[in-house]
Amino acid sequence: MAISELRFDLVSKDWVVIAAGRGRRPDTFARKEIPVVESIAVDCPFCQIQTQETAVLVKTKQGHITKIKNNQEITKLDWSFVVIPNKYPAFGQAQDLNERAIGPYQIMDGVGFHEVVVYRDHQRQLADFSIEEVAGFIDVLQQRYLALMDKEFINYISIFHNQGKEAGASVSHPHSQIIAIPVIDPDLRRSLEGSQRYFNLNHQCVHCTMMKWDLENGERIIFENDQFVVLVPFASRVSFEMRIYPKEHKSYFERITDQEIRSLAEVLKQALSRLAKKLNNPAYNFFIHTAPCDSKDYDHYHWHIEILPKTSTWAGFELGTGIEILTIAPEQSAGFLRA
Ligand code: AMP
Ligand code: ZN
Ligand code: ZN
Repeated sequence: MAISELRFDLVSKDWVVIAAGRGRRPDTFARKEIPVVESIAVDCPFCQIQTQETAVLVKTKQGHITKIKNNQEITKLDWSFVVIPNKYPAFGQAQDLNERAIGPYQIMDGVGFHEVVVYRDHQRQLADFSIEEVAGFIDVLQQRYLALMDKEFINYISIFHNQGKEAGASVSHPHSQIIAIPVIDPDLRRSLEGSQRYFNLNHQCVHCTMMKWDLENGERIIFENDQFVVLVPFASRVSFEMRIYPKEHKSYFERITDQEIRSLAEVLKQALSRLAKKLNNPAYNFFIHTAPCDSKDYDHYHWHIEILPKTSTWAGFELGTGIEILTIAPEQSAGFLRA
């Protein structure tokens, strides 16, 4: 038997290394210590939402979405999510992009929106939410997406979530972020180009092709319902990586229907709560990869969510090559998370 296995990623054209020969048991990946979460942090900015920048959206526990004039109004509401402008934004609003060149170099202003979706409770993470609450969260993301996509200079909207220090979260209060920007980021560009290339060569969607195979074969599936599936990708980049796909070929996250939101909420909850239970609340990042909103045609693209748990630290080999050596096979991680 070979010491390790190289697997080819059909979209990125990268190779990944699976070296599961050492027979590491899945439970040895679990977080060793219990992360400390203060019961209520007096110095937590998101616990004092009334003192923060004026919210652009408030969702109540009854499911109503409202715009408010000032944050004092929030205190009168039984709210579940509040979207506020980021206090330290990476992008801001302006009249124009101010595109210019300096010699061979190209510059434009960092025009865009940077928002934070703040969850109500300091101690309750997405994994602890009911399906209805997760659906409420997805609805907030869709509402903000729809509001931002038509703004001038906005060509791409990135929705992401950092949980835990190891995953880069600087605030422990549960939150997600939305960045609306004029350019298409390199990670998404690779994903779009990889899908387009596969489509041109094979006349079918690469994600549909992989998903169909994985659903028939079953060994990398964690959970599925009628409309969505969560699986461990064949060429995973990190141990216990997960991906959520709409089963039907769909390019645009923002076109999700209410009924699909409920279905997605069930699958997202399954993914995150299994991760939390089985691996003792590891830090993780997730993000949505969806077609840009620059009015070009991306019908070949298949939107999805990528969940990347942090169960190891990148060292010289990983940083020098961009390859993490997986010491557990994706099929074994899937089996462990499915059980
Ligand atoms: P993370 O680094 O993933 O924990 O995300 C926290 C985000 O919240 C960062 O992008 C911060 O810039 C932002 N942030 C921190 N404090 C505040 C605040 N008081 N109001 C709005 N955004 C904040
Ligand atoms: Zn808090
Ligand atoms: Zn597809």
